[in-house]
Amino acid sequence: MSSLFFQISSIFYVILVAIIYFTKKKIKTIENNIYKNIILWTFVTLLIDMASVYFGIKFPNYAITLPLCKFYLSCILIWVMLFTYYIFIISSRKNNGNINIEQNENIAYFKKIKYIFIMIGIIINLGILILPLNLYSDNGIMYTYGPCAIFSYGCAGILVIYWIVTILFNRRNIRNKKYWPAFIFFALALVAIFIQSTYPNILLVTSVAAYITVLTYFTIENPDIKMIEQLNVAKSQAERANRAKTDFLSSMSHEIRTPLNAIVGFSQALAEEEISNEAREEVKDIIASSNNLLEIVNGILDISKIEANKLEIVNTEYDSNQLMREVISLIKARLASRPLEFRIEIDPTLPPVLYGDYVRLKQIMINILTNAVKYTKEGYVSLTVNTVIRDDICRLIIAVEDSGIGIKSEDIDKLFTKFQRFELEKNITTEGTGLGLAITKSLVELMKGKIIVQSKYGEGSKFTVSIDQRIVPKSADEVKSDITPSNEPFNAYGQKILIVDDNNVNLKVAKRLLKDYNVEVDLVTSGQECLDKILNGEHYDLIFLDDMMPRMTGTETLRHLNNIIGFNIPVVALTANAISGMRERYISLGFNDYLAKPINKEQLNSILRNYLKESQEHAPTVTAKKIKIDNANNHNVKFLEENDIDVKQSIELLGDLEMYDSTLEEFYKNFVANLERINTYKEKNDLNNYTILVHSLKSDSKYLGFKALADLAYKHEMAGKNNNREFINDNYNELIQEAARIYNILKKYMGE
Ligand code: ADP
Repeated sequence: MSSLFFQISSIFYVILVAIIYFTKKKIKTIENNIYKNIILWTFVTLLIDMASVYFGIKFPNYAITLPLCKFYLSCILIWVMLFTYYIFIISSRKNNGNINIEQNENIAYFKKIKYIFIMIGIIINLGILILPLNLYSDNGIMYTYGPCAIFSYGCAGILVIYWIVTILFNRRNIRNKKYWPAFIFFALALVAIFIQSTYPNILLVTSVAAYITVLTYFTIENPDIKMIEQLNVAKSQAERANRAKTDFLSSMSHEIRTPLNAIVGFSQALAEEEISNEAREEVKDIIASSNNLLEIVNGILDISKIEANKLEIVNTEYDSNQLMREVISLIKARLASRPLEFRIEIDPTLPPVLYGDYVRLKQIMINILTNAVKYTKEGYVSLTVNTVIRDDICRLIIAVEDSGIGIKSEDIDKLFTKFQRFELEKNITTEGTGLGLAITKSLVELMKGKIIVQSKYGEGSKFTVSIDQRIVPKSADEVKSDITPSNEPFNAYGQKILIVDDNNVNLKVAKRLLKDYNVEVDLVTSGQECLDKILNGEHYDLIFLDDMMPRMTGTETLRHLNNIIGFNIPVVALTANAISGMRERYISLGFNDYLAKPINKEQLNSILRNYLKESQEHAPTVTAKKIKIDNANNHNVKFLEENDIDVKQSIELLGDLEMYDSTLEEFYKNFVANLERINTYKEKNDLNNYTILVHSLKSDSKYLGFKALADLAYKHEMAGKNNNREFINDNYNELIQEAARIYNILKKYMGE
């Protein structure tokens, strides 16, 4: 019985591991499945081992003993095969980092491998069945020998060598370095097989197999370890998805801002035209809705920046009273005709100049004040600003109180969670996204401040924010304010501005907004053209430079401009890349200033006031050229229509005939050069640039009513995107013929 000592102790700890393993909660993975079978099989092998030893010693001549010994060898080999498959799985590249059975798209591949293993198993077992086995049993010693034993131990040895080789070859795919001690122990299996095959009376193999099974549990298969590992995988997947979401949101915001630029710009321009009162009201609604949309886009951008830890606090010196004035005037405008009393109390000890993030502080105040106005139907909204001054730090205690609908006590905890809105049935008409307070809280925390809420449902709420700002011992006149709160255009006659943007509509919008300043405006659509203008000696007083342009970005263009000797024209970044912190980024890149699209008239005004001089001179009221166009238009619009050009729709898009004419003139001026560039890119087989140019031709044609040309250019753009050179070659002539037709019509229209 002493020869069964190893087996009995092994069976004891295998049972122990089995109990722990099967009672623990596990994730469903391929390796878990195999490991489950390994435990069960270790148990069976140990039982068979003990039975065969027992029978071998007690009844060596019984007919049952030899088959039992063969079955034992077979068990050992099945165990080794299972472990081989297990090692294959954990070291496989296809399984790396993705171990969940439900998500693993390589399941089919692993199934195929499983069948291969089953086939090898069947062949080995057939060998065991067929080959003769000899049994030696004498006085408490029992062992097997002969071809079947040699074959079995040989196969087991080869498979264990395979384990070691697989692990060494795939060492990079093995997820966790702490597995290595376990793997080294696997090598012991080889030693055990060698000992047992050389000294058959030492029965080691089954015990070593049991030991490996138990050790594997403690090092690799412990469900707790696997759960943590799985959590880490899920965490990094979630982080990756979150990053993708942030990237998506910022690119979406860019995409949304560009058309918004056109909507806001043209609407603002239209509101100042002589239009009927009804139309003016409608235009005002368009502007209000666009501004709302802009606020939503900005909110989403802010929250995604906050989540990606990319929102930075930018501290500057600022005029504290101006900040209060700006906030109050904005809230007063929002109160408009609402029957609400707006109570304001600002501590007179408020230092005139503070150092902190002026833009974010303003955003915090506006957010809570806007909420107070939004959720209060009658009564009052009050703003109280108190200060506590200690050394050079001023603690601002900003309290906003209202007599509005209040917040239920159970909702207060959820107040700062994004997209949380309450009382939706009551607030059905109140606009909002549920982002405002989430952003506010994050901003307050980023500024190391605190925000607290007190509210009584049905009676009102009070939001109190406390934020420390450094006191700057200066007077308000000494700090330059960021935003001049006036949007009154001024006369800048005699000065010249260059606008660089690859999008023609954006150019038109900017040009339209600059019309009121009496400045001369030049428009170009690429960084290269901008450089050409400067190299040709053109002088400008200011350049607005879009950043995201194909071929040469605005930032690259600026670098080239700065290399031109004597270049000292101020350059303002004009971009839809309007994430907070962008202004500072562009200034650090060498731009003099930054103007976000959609262009805000106040900000444009402030920039123009900074870089242009007010002039007393005026432009002659009607220029000779304009007379020519106006005269021409009287009858020629019909001429365009007769030639299939949809002038009416274009005028609707662009505002008025004058705008249409100036856009047309700009287009006509560059038409031939653009067609030549299209041709060059086609000849050079440069599909990328060809596509960019036909895309631009399509947009221009659409805006100017050249429907047929727009359609053809669109088809070429699509072909370019799909790499369909055949289509481009086959249909190129058609495109050029239509372009030539338009060119001839325009030539006549221009009176040339
Ligand atoms: P939004 O106002 O865009 O819905 P917020 O994050 O600013 O989002 O506010 C979240 C919710 O908190 C609001 O939908 C509203 O139900 C509630 N809330 C915020 N401020 C007030 C307030 N002053 N009075 C009553 N309810 C408020």
